[in-house]
Amino acid sequence: MLPSHKGFRFTLITVNAEIVAVGSELLTPFRQDTNSLFLTARLNELGVEVIYKTIVGDRPDHLLEACRQAFTRAEIIIFSGGLGPTEDDLTRECVAEALGLELRRDHEMVTALYTRAANMRVKLAENNIKQADYIAGAEVLKNPRGTAPGQWLETEYEGQKRLIMLLPGPPHEMEGVFTEHCIPRLEAALPEVHLATCELKIAMVPESAADLRAAKHYKNFPGVETTILAKPGEVQLHLKARAASREEAEARLDKLAVLLEEEFAEEIFSSGGESMEQIVGYFLQMRGATLAVAESCTGGLLGERITSVPGSSRYFLGGALVYSDQLKMEFCGVPPLLLKSDGAVSRTVAAALAEGIRQRCKSSLGIGITGVAGPGGGTEEKPVGLVYIALADGKHTEVVERRFPGDRERIRWFASQLALEMLRRKLR
Ligand code: AMP
Ligand code: MG
Repeated sequence: MLPSHKGFRFTLITVNAEIVAVGSELLTPFRQDTNSLFLTARLNELGVEVIYKTIVGDRPDHLLEACRQAFTRAEIIIFSGGLGPTEDDLTRECVAEALGLELRRDHEMVTALYTRAANMRVKLAENNIKQADYIAGAEVLKNPRGTAPGQWLETEYEGQKRLIMLLPGPPHEMEGVFTEHCIPRLEAALPEVHLATCELKIAMVPESAADLRAAKHYKNFPGVETTILAKPGEVQLHLKARAASREEAEARLDKLAVLLEEEFAEEIFSSGGESMEQIVGYFLQMRGATLAVAESCTGGLLGERITSVPGSSRYFLGGALVYSDQLKMEFCGVPPLLLKSDGAVSRTVAAALAEGIRQRCKSSLGIGITGVAGPGGGTEEKPVGLVYIALADGKHTEVVERRFPGDRERIRWFASQLALEMLRRKLR
C-alpha cells in the first residue's frame, strides 16, 4: 500500500512579506540572523509567503534605503533589532522617517522605565527613554521579557496598504512579542484564503534524478507551487496550493501528491513531516524489534541520530564505537584473520561487525558500518568514500557496498542515512 499524505496543514492566507533584520553584528561572521527563520516558519503557517529577507547594519542611510525598498515591494514588513537604548539602535527613527510619520512618546512607558530603574537601584540613562517612543498611529506591543516594546502599524506607503511590525532583536524577546501580539492580529487581518501543504521525503535518490522524475508531473499542475530541498541521501518535495476554500486547496494538491506517491512509491519514507530516524523508530517499535550498532567510520553518528528521537530506549539498546581493529575484535568478535586477509574496510568485516554486535548486545537486529571517510587513507583498491554497511537479523546478513561522493562530513552522513534506509526497508 502506498503511504498516505497525512501532511496537510490548512491555514489562512495570503499576502507577501519582507523581513528586515537590523544589526551590524549580523553582517559579521560571528552572528547569524536567526530571527527571520522563526518568523518565516510562523508566517508560512499563517499562509503568508516571505518574498524577501534583508540584513542591514546600524547605519541610518542604509537602514532608510532598506525601509523604502521593503515598503515598495512587500505588503507585510517585519523589522527585528535596533529597538534598544543605545545610540546605534535606529529602527524606530528610520521607519518613521521613511513613512513620513513622527515619533510620539508613551508617557506611561517613560514612568515604567523610571520605576524599573529605581527598582534595580540604577539611574535611568537619558538614551534609555527613547525606548518609549512610538511611530504615530502605531500600537505599542508589550515586551514582558525585556524593556524595548514592539510596535504594530497599519499604514500606507505611496498609496499602498502596508502592515509594519517592529520587534526587539534578542530572539527570546522577539519570539515572545510576535507570538503574543502579532500572530492574533495577523490572523484577524489576513483575508480568508486557504493553503494546503505536503512534504514528501525520499531517501537515497540523487536530487537531479528526483527532480527529473517529479518535474514531469509538476508541469500539469500550474496551480501547485513546488520546491525541492536536498541533503546527503535525502530529497524533500514540498508542495503548496492556495484556494478560496480548504477543500479546493486540498483537492488541488491531492492529485499531484498521489501521482508523486505512485512515481516514487517505496522510495518515499515520510509524507507527514517525520524524519528518517523517527520513521525507523516507529517501525522498530511496531515490529517489537531491538537494535544495536557497531560503528567505525561514522563514529557514533548513527547512534546519535537514532537516540535523538524521544522514546528510542524502547527499541535501541546501544552499541560500540569500534574505530580500531583491536576494538573490532574485542567488542564485536571480528576474527583477526579476517581483518588481516580482507582489511577493516570490507564486506566481510561489516558483516562480522553487525553479527558480532547483535550477539553481544542480545538485540534482534545488528548494524555494522565500516568505510573510508577521508580525506586521507584512501587507496586505489579502497578509495575515499567506500563504505560497507551490514544488517544482521540472526538468520541472514545483508551487506551493501557504496562509494559515496563528497567530503568527510557528507560521506559519514550518507553512510548513516543508508543504514537507516536499510533498516526501514527491512522493517516496512
Ligand atoms: P538589538 O535589538 O539590535 O539591540 O539586538 C539585541 C541582541 O539581539 C543582539 O545581541 C543581537 O545580536 C540579537 N539579534 C538582533 N537581531 C537578531 C537576529 N535577526 N537574529 C538573531 N539575533 C539577533
Ligand atoms: Mg542592534
